[in-house]
Amino acid sequence: MKERYDFEEIETKWQKRWDETSQFVVKEEPGKPKYYVLEMLPYPSGALHIGHVRNYSLGDAVARFKRMQGFNVLHPIGWDAFGLPAENAAIKRNTHPETWTLSNIATMKEQCLRMGWSYDWTREIASCTPEYYRWNQWFFLQMYERDLAYRRKGTVNWCEKCQTVLANEQVVNGRCWRDDSSVVVKDLEQWYFRITNYSDELLVDLDLLEGWPEKVKTMQRNWIGRSVGARVRFPVVGDQNCSIDIFTTRLDTIFGATFLVLAPEHELVSSWLDDPKMDVRFYNFVTKIRRQGKVTREAEETEKD
Ligand SMILES: [Zn+2]
Repeated sequence: MKERYDFEEIETKWQKRWDETSQFVVKEEPGKPKYYVLEMLPYPSGALHIGHVRNYSLGDAVARFKRMQGFNVLHPIGWDAFGLPAENAAIKRNTHPETWTLSNIATMKEQCLRMGWSYDWTREIASCTPEYYRWNQWFFLQMYERDLAYRRKGTVNWCEKCQTVLANEQVVNGRCWRDDSSVVVKDLEQWYFRITNYSDELLVDLDLLEGWPEKVKTMQRNWIGRSVGARVRFPVVGDQNCSIDIFTTRLDTIFGATFLVLAPEHELVSSWLDDPKMDVRFYNFVTKIRRQGKVTREAEETEKD
């Protein structure tokens, strides 16, 4: 026996054998208990990094363990291959995003094989291929037909440099997290999903989840954010057609209300911005607050204007 483990010799030998015998190809086996192991699909960014190696080795250990326990284990892999990073990388290298993405997939697949992870490669998918995304489109149409996907105007954070919408969490002190350029807030017609239709169901079913950390469940509850209270309508003095609806969980304190604060994204604020008679100081103030971005503006430590 050799004193040192010879990676090159031993691993090449066994990986070849696994490949020749289709060791990880999954077939239906009625009567055998099934087990599904899925790690987050990697983004084909160029080459595997040590984070991939850690993450996919963990999943692989689970898959192998379950196989040895007698389960018929489905352990698939694929590529989460859409998005702006691919487009930006392609522009930078003066190539086509498809060329860039496919060559990254080829490199990373080669590396996965060298790692010896036990995937069923016959089931490999890439989300940028029509064979895959036609199902996304099909799902979208199902939701559209049931009025669960709809269009409306909404206020978004826009980065001129990236030419894209940013999430509130991607705006840091009014600047894009990627390139530090100044973010503008504008109204854009966009697609929305009516996920609020399911909020009660989601909330109730959180209690059915077994083995989930309480921390994660609490995060979900807070994110769904149900609170019970009342809607109250405040009329606007001097404008009979105009009123402001508020929501409160403490209706008993309503008589203590001395002023209302509107978010800069509120539709009334937008309509006042369009009013040419409006004081320029109002315009400047709203623009300034909008630039801060929701997360910064609402943070505990931010000084309120
Ligand atoms: Zn940007």
